[in-house]
Amino acid sequence: MKSKVTGGFFLVVLLTAAIVFYLVQKTPAPASIGRSADTVRVIAADTMPAAPPKIIYGINIDSLDVIENVIRPNQFLGEILSKHNVSDREIHELSQKSREVHDVRKLVSRKKYTLLCSRDSIQKVQYMIYEPSNTEYVIYKIKDSIEVLRQVRKIDTIRSQAAGIIESSLWETMTNAGTDPLLIHALSEVFAWQVDFYRVQKGDKFKVIYEKLLVEDQPVGIGKIIGAYFNHFGNDYYAIYFDQGNGISYFDEKGQSLQKQFLRAPLKYNRISSRYTRRRFHPVLKRYKAHLGTDYAAPTGTPIRSVGDGIVEEARYAKYNGRYVKVRHNSVYTTQYLHMSGFASGIRKGARIKQGQVIGYVGSTGLANGPHLCFRFWKNGQQVDALKVELPPSEPVTEKYKAAYEVIKEAIISNLNKIDYSTGEEETLATSKQL
Ligand SMILES: [Zn+2]
Repeated sequence: MKSKVTGGFFLVVLLTAAIVFYLVQKTPAPASIGRSADTVRVIAADTMPAAPPKIIYGINIDSLDVIENVIRPNQFLGEILSKHNVSDREIHELSQKSREVHDVRKLVSRKKYTLLCSRDSIQKVQYMIYEPSNTEYVIYKIKDSIEVLRQVRKIDTIRSQAAGIIESSLWETMTNAGTDPLLIHALSEVFAWQVDFYRVQKGDKFKVIYEKLLVEDQPVGIGKIIGAYFNHFGNDYYAIYFDQGNGISYFDEKGQSLQKQFLRAPLKYNRISSRYTRRRFHPVLKRYKAHLGTDYAAPTGTPIRSVGDGIVEEARYAKYNGRYVKVRHNSVYTTQYLHMSGFASGIRKGARIKQGQVIGYVGSTGLANGPHLCFRFWKNGQQVDALKVELPPSEPVTEKYKAAYEVIKEAIISNLNKIDYSTGEEETLATSKQL
């Protein structure tokens, strides 16, 4: 609440200052002396500048017609422009000139474009502006000379906050509060190991301070989460953003990392016989195929361990995978273990397992030409290379950074505590800008 009041107050001060400044600059001093209030108003109106020119994409559109549309599937630049009286010669020159700036053959369907046309009977396009993303646009200038310009918009970062008490689902609670779905996603990554986002229940509460990214006052995404609080099954969890020189990580009140480390490998292996690749020659199928896992060659019967705590999502046989186990660690990470000769006892769907627990044994069931473990790793539903996936550091705050961490932690927790659940989303005044 306090920041809102302060914000409003500042706005009033700023506006007052701006009006005073404007009047001092623009009002001819003699006119306002010794006249009635009515006269002053008339004179002030007379001296008001003309309406400012209308400018979009840095172009004055006072004498142009604006047509906005989106690219249709398989639509080309030439097709759009020729309908608006741009000649083939001009289109050709445009595609030549755009080569280094932007590939005109790669217009993406459903992306926005704007045509600025002459306000006459010909309605010829003077400019076309194509927006491949929220943060950039390309200007094709067809007036006088032909030019192609790519512009990157300035991204403003403002500090924002959100809070809520779960009524039905996390999704509903956050969307009702007007929260960006990207924030839910970011929050689930921060608390991946503490809060089971699949089991968020009625009465769970959250507060979050984060960076909101804006382009021309429109939200385009979120930056980092600065601090967050989650009350899950009655337990308090804090996440404090802190970088002690080895990358962004989140820590709790005691300075422990919220990130848990996975085991480096799920077994003792002889060698890695095949790595994660989008294209490899399959030894059994004899054709090129993506291999979205890491193959560890090891003797039949070698114990296979879960790389982290989790719940067995699947433990069954399939034609290609053979006997396999899939473990969901949390709402972000899932791992899968293929071609097993057998499962360890107690490994069945729904079983809770600990990091390092034996879940099965190396074999060559399914599509395999020798005993090995094919290990697969998912992050946010996408298969990634387990050997390359970047995981946040998991070490606690070190002695060297303890004092610095304490200061930041106190400030963030105190700010989190000030957030009122009923206020929902509210922007604070602290802003920073980045390009
Ligand atoms: Zn494999």
